[in-house]
Amino acid sequence: MSNPSEPSNPSGPSEPSNPSELIHRHRAVTPSWLAVYYAEPIELTHGEGRHVWDSQGRRYLDFFGGILTTMTAHALPEVTKAVAEQASRILHSSTLYLSSSMVELAEQIAELSGIPDAKVFFTTSGTEANDAALLLATSYRRSNQVLAMRNSYHGRSFTTIGITGNSSWSPTSLSPLQTLYVHGGVRTRGPFAELSDAEFIAACTADLEDLLGQVGGNVAALIAEPIQGVGGFTSGPDGLFAAFKRVLDRHGILWISDEVQTGWGRTGDHFWGWQAHAEAGPPDILTFAKGIGNGLSMGGVVARAEVMDCLGANSISTFGGSPVTTAGALANLRHLLDHDLQGNSRRIGALLSGLLRAADLPMVREVRGRGLMIGVELVDSSGEPSAAAAASTLEHARELGLLIGKGGLAGNVLRIAPPLSLTAEEAAEGAELLIEALRRAQAEST
Ligand code: PLP
Repeated sequence: MSNPSEPSNPSGPSEPSNPSELIHRHRAVTPSWLAVYYAEPIELTHGEGRHVWDSQGRRYLDFFGGILTTMTAHALPEVTKAVAEQASRILHSSTLYLSSSMVELAEQIAELSGIPDAKVFFTTSGTEANDAALLLATSYRRSNQVLAMRNSYHGRSFTTIGITGNSSWSPTSLSPLQTLYVHGGVRTRGPFAELSDAEFIAACTADLEDLLGQVGGNVAALIAEPIQGVGGFTSGPDGLFAAFKRVLDRHGILWISDEVQTGWGRTGDHFWGWQAHAEAGPPDILTFAKGIGNGLSMGGVVARAEVMDCLGANSISTFGGSPVTTAGALANLRHLLDHDLQGNSRRIGALLSGLLRAADLPMVREVRGRGLMIGVELVDSSGEPSAAAAASTLEHARELGLLIGKGGLAGNVLRIAPPLSLTAEEAAEGAELLIEALRRAQAEST
């Protein structure tokens, strides 16, 4: 069990701040809609490997990686060194000037993307990447109609939040885009819940065809997460997007694969989430963020040159692809590939999922996911989604020294997504802590 201990890294603040005072100040100056975890929020001061420490000197095993962002490990020496070396030379230059690390990273990502004749545009977040993808698709297709999946999440800008089909994440109805919602991301409820994989794919594809038959004019693109992240690590069966792509291709509609959570080998079996649907070929546009920077603010879009270049306008990005973020991301990507962290994600993910499934707790309706992207769906004694159980498990896990996330349409899914370098011992330790947290939450609810 991971007990509170002294931080091994001396770089924490010399004067630990008081979390109850800090949250008070935080609330006074930040938006009321900015979510903060825990009844007594944590200020993280530093990390190392798969562990982080808070301002009170408590150590936690990190099973959420700053929302799937610490992809390789905390304080990975290669990344820290690359960032420090680049920062000591020049911190910023903008896209008006050349940067060899930006070009090299773009070359590698274009190659890895699987998209033929690919070009890459760097942004500073997943939101901005999806915004750019939607700009490209709607410009290329000269249409402001888009398809999005029910239960999806693509960011918090005006455009991306406007296409999110869930009112708890998307309070505005003033989207600049006309959005049509497609079935397929969630199999646990709705009219298609009881179907086999093949029947589910056929039903969702027929629904898509029906939808397209009803709307007049062009549709620009379908944007979709291969595994819905904020939506609770839920997905349709393998091959769903291949079936969709055959329909989209007939209409000239582009497929945007939002790989912000599923990219870089996170799902173990594949480097990108779209590859679980590979028989129809790669998406037209792919967006990425989170893991590539290992915590540095980086996102981006990959698209066929014909689509990427369709804007025809002169534009810049002040911060996208900055020398520091691209130097750090290159070091991070090199480490990921050299150490086969995708393979580690597959092996350790299977181990961790197996341990959680074997616990066979009544509150756990399902342990699902792929690689180190594992969702644990919780229900109450009558089988209904239980957000209270998820919230309580989060608190107990924290007390035990384990950080996890939660999500899902009903807020009842625990999200497990540690750095991809997680060891077998850490997986076993984390499983033990999580099962104990679930038992405590279960005892509380009865
Ligand atoms: N797309 C997906 C699938 C996401 O999960 C997120 C964030 O969680 C985003 C886009 C937005 O990314 P960011 O928070 O970096 O703007």
